[in-house]
Amino acid sequence: MFPRTAFTITVNPKIPPRLKRLEELANNLWYSWDRSTRTLFSRLDPHLWEAVGHNPKAFLKRVDESALIKAAEDRSFLTTYNSILSSYDSYHDASTAPSNEGLDPQEQIAYFCFEFGFHESLPIYSGGLGILAGDHCKAASDLHLPFVAIGLLYRQGYFSQTIDSLGNQQVTYTVSNFDDFPVTPVSREDGSSLQIKVPLPHRDVTLKVWQAKIGHVTLFLMDADLPENSPQDRYITHNLYGGDKVMRIEQEIILGMGGVRILQALGIKPTIWHINEGHAAFMILERIHSLVQQGLDFASALESVAVNTVFTTHTAVPAGHDHFSKEMMHTYFDNFYRSLNITHEEFMALGHIPGSPDFNMTALAIHGSRTHNGVSKIHGDVSANICRDLWPQIEPEENPISYVTNGVHVPTFLAQEWSDLFDRYLGHEWRNKLCDIDYWSRIDEIPNHLFWSVRQSLKSQLFYGIRSRISEQNARNRGSDAHLDRLLKFVDPINPNILTLGFARRFATYKRATLLFHNLDWLRKIIHDQERPVLLLFAGKAHPADVPGQDLIRDISQIAHSPEFEGRLLLIEGYDLRLARRLVSGVDVWLNNPIYPLEASGTSGMKAGINGAINLSVLDGWWGEGYDGKNGWAIKPGLENMEGALRDQEESRALYEILQDQVIPQYYNHGKLGYSPEWVRMAKHSMMSLLPRYSATRMVDEYVTKFYRSASRKGMSYAANDFSDAKILAKWKTKIKHAWHGVTLRRLDTPCERIHFNENLNFKVAANLHDLSPDDVVVELLICRQFKTTKLGNFNHFKFEFTGTKDSHEHIFELKLTPELCGKQEYFIRIHPYHSLLTHPLEMGLMVWL
Ligand SMILES: *Cc1c(COP(=O)(O)O)cnc(C)c1O
Repeated sequence: MFPRTAFTITVNPKIPPRLKRLEELANNLWYSWDRSTRTLFSRLDPHLWEAVGHNPKAFLKRVDESALIKAAEDRSFLTTYNSILSSYDSYHDASTAPSNEGLDPQEQIAYFCFEFGFHESLPIYSGGLGILAGDHCKAASDLHLPFVAIGLLYRQGYFSQTIDSLGNQQVTYTVSNFDDFPVTPVSREDGSSLQIKVPLPHRDVTLKVWQAKIGHVTLFLMDADLPENSPQDRYITHNLYGGDKVMRIEQEIILGMGGVRILQALGIKPTIWHINEGHAAFMILERIHSLVQQGLDFASALESVAVNTVFTTHTAVPAGHDHFSKEMMHTYFDNFYRSLNITHEEFMALGHIPGSPDFNMTALAIHGSRTHNGVSKIHGDVSANICRDLWPQIEPEENPISYVTNGVHVPTFLAQEWSDLFDRYLGHEWRNKLCDIDYWSRIDEIPNHLFWSVRQSLKSQLFYGIRSRISEQNARNRGSDAHLDRLLKFVDPINPNILTLGFARRFATYKRATLLFHNLDWLRKIIHDQERPVLLLFAGKAHPADVPGQDLIRDISQIAHSPEFEGRLLLIEGYDLRLARRLVSGVDVWLNNPIYPLEASGTSGMKAGINGAINLSVLDGWWGEGYDGKNGWAIKPGLENMEGALRDQEESRALYEILQDQVIPQYYNHGKLGYSPEWVRMAKHSMMSLLPRYSATRMVDEYVTKFYRSASRKGMSYAANDFSDAKILAKWKTKIKHAWHGVTLRRLDTPCERIHFNENLNFKVAANLHDLSPDDVVVELLICRQFKTTKLGNFNHFKFEFTGTKDSHEHIFELKLTPELCGKQEYFIRIHPYHSLLTHPLEMGLMVWL
C-alpha cells in the first residue's frame, strides 16, 4: 500500500425545526422503557436503526437528512411524534407527580453502583446487578423520588461475545465514543465541564463527570480517560470487571470517594446513601473523612454516616465479596487513618471479618451502615449467616440483616403486545396499578384465545430474531446452508407451535447451565417425540477469567452440534438486554436451576413471568417465595450438605420428571381449540400472581417505607445541634464496649415447673452491670410454646423492670408474667445493651444469656 494519510470528516444531518425534540428524546433513557419512542426512531431508517444497535443518539447523527425532511412533512409521523412528546412531557411534569412516597423535598437519595443496565445503547452493565440498578433508577423516576445515582462510565464496558464453531467464547471489546451515548458532560455554573480529583498513591486522578437522564433521575458517571491523567490512569475506567486487583481497587476508590466529591461539588446533599453491593463502600470513608475535617471525632462521624446509609448485598457466596490484602490497603490508604484521627488497627477493623486478614468491602459496608439487606427472603437468611461474625454474640436470625426481594421494571420488560392488550381489556390505568394485587386478577377477563395469540405472536417475533442471529453466527463460523437449515428446522415463525424452553444468564458454575444435559438419553426421549417436540434455547456470557464457566459454553455447544440435538438445542451468542427482552417474552417456559441457596434473587424469571411465560425453577432466590403451587413448577432442592454429583443427579431427575409428566403433556393438550386451556390458565395465573409482586415499583416502594424514610429522618436528627445525637450515641457505644465483657446475669427466683392457666409467674434476676446503669440495658424474657424446631423469631419478648440495687454492685430486675397459652413452653432470659438512638436494638452484637 502506498504511504498515505486517512483524513476523516463527519457529516451530521441538520434536524428540521419541527423534529428538533428528537434530540431531547435521544438524550433521555426514558426511551429505554417507552417503546413507541424507539419505534419512532426506527421508522426513519430501519436498517440504520439496526446498524447503530438501537441507539437513538448515534442514529440521529447518522440518519440521512432527506429522511428527516420527509418525516417532517409526513402527517402520520408527526402525529406519532407529537403524541410521544405529550406523554414525555406529562411524565416529566412535576405537577402531575403521582407520589414521592412521603419523602420531603429536602430529602435526597444517592444510589451508588458499579454497573447500570438500562438499555443496550449504554453498555455499562454486565448482568443482573446492573440491570437491577437500572430498574431501581427507573422505578425511582416513576415514583418521582428525589434520587440521583453514581457510577462509572466505562470506555469499553463489558465485552461482546461470539461463540465459534467449537464452542469457544470469543471476547471483543469495543472502544465507545461517548458522543454516541445518551450522556452529556456536566458543566459548572461558568460553563466549564465539571472535573473532580481523587487521590491515588503519589498522584491525583482527574475525572470528567457525565450525566445520563433516566426520566426524572440523574445518573452521574465518572470517566478517567483524559489527557490530564497518565496513560495507565486513563485505563482505570476502561473495563467493567476487567483488569486485576489494582484496577479494581482504583475503580472502587473512584466510585466511592469520587462519587461523594461529585455530589459535594454540585451542592447536592443526600439524606439517604444507598450502597448497592460492596464495590461502592469506600464512600463511607470519604464521608467520615469530610466530617472529621469539619471537626467531628471519628466515632461520632461514623455514627452520623452509618445511620443514613443503606447497604444491599447481592452475593450468596462468601468468596464473591470483594476484599483487598493488607498490603494493598497499605499502598492505597497508607496514612489515611491519621486524617480520621484513629489508629491503623481501628482503620483496618472497619473492613475486618474474623478469620480473614483481608480488608473486606462487605464488612466496611456493614460497619458503615445501619440498614443492611439481602435481595430475597432466602438470601436475607444466607447473608445474615455469612456475616454472622460481625455481631458475635447474636444468632444470625436475630442480626440486623433483613431483605427486600428484587423486582423488575415492568414497562421495560413487558412486551408491547401486552401493554396494548392491557390498554384494551384493563384500561390505561393499569400503569398506575403496578403493585395492586387485586387489580391484576383481572387478567382472567382476557379471553383465552387472545391471551394465547399474544403468546404466539411474541414467540413468532422471537423466532424471527433467532433465525437472523443463528444465520449470522453460522455464516461467521463458516457453516454451510444445509447446516443452517438443520439448525433452524424447528424455528418456524409462521407456525411457532413448538414448546420452547429458555435458559439465559451468566454462565457461572453455580447456575448449572448443563443440569438439563445430565442424562442425555433421558433428555433425548423427552424432546424427540414427533407429536410433542421441544425446542431448547440457551444463551449467556461467562466472565473471561472464568474457565469453568467457558467450559459450560463449550459443553452446550458440543451437544447442540451432535446430530440428535441439532436444531432442538440452540446456543445463541451475545446475551444482552435486547436478547433478554426477546427471550423472556417469547419462550413458553423459563428454566432456572441454580445450586440452592446460591441464587441471591434472580430476576430473569420475573421478566418471563410478567410476559406470560411459565417458570420452572429450583426453589431458590425469588422463586422460593414467588412459587405458589399453581403459577409454575418447582424443583425442590436437595439437602444443603448433599454432595455435588448426587445433588445434580437428584435435581436433574426431578427436572426430567416435571418436563415429561407435567410440562409437555400440559402444553400439548390442545383438544379442538388449537391451544391448551390448562396451559393458558397457568400462564394467566403466573402473570397475575407475579406482576404486582415482582415489579421494581414494589421493590423501591419497600426500600422507601422500610429503610429510606427512617434512615433519612434519623440522619437529620443525628446531625442536628452540631451532631449532638451522633456524639451521644458514639460515646455511649464506647462506654458499652469497655464495660460489656464484665456484665453478668443470675437468677434469683426459683424456677417453677408447672402452673395453672391464668396464674402469675414472678421472675427476678440480678445483673452485675460493671459500670453501666440499668438504663443502658434491656433484660428480657423470650417465651414460646415448645415445638420441635423453634425459631427465635417466634418467641414473644417481655421486658424486665429495674427494681433496685443489691449490695451496691448488683441491679435487680423483675418481671411479672401470666402465660397466655397452655402447654409446655420454653423460655430464655437475657440482657443486651440498649439506647433509644439505636437503629436496630441489637446492632452492637452484644448479648449475655442466662
Ligand atoms: C435480567 C437479566 C439478567 C439477570 O438475570 P438472572 O435471572 O439474575 O440471571 C442478566 N442479564 C440480562 C441481560 C438480563 O436482562
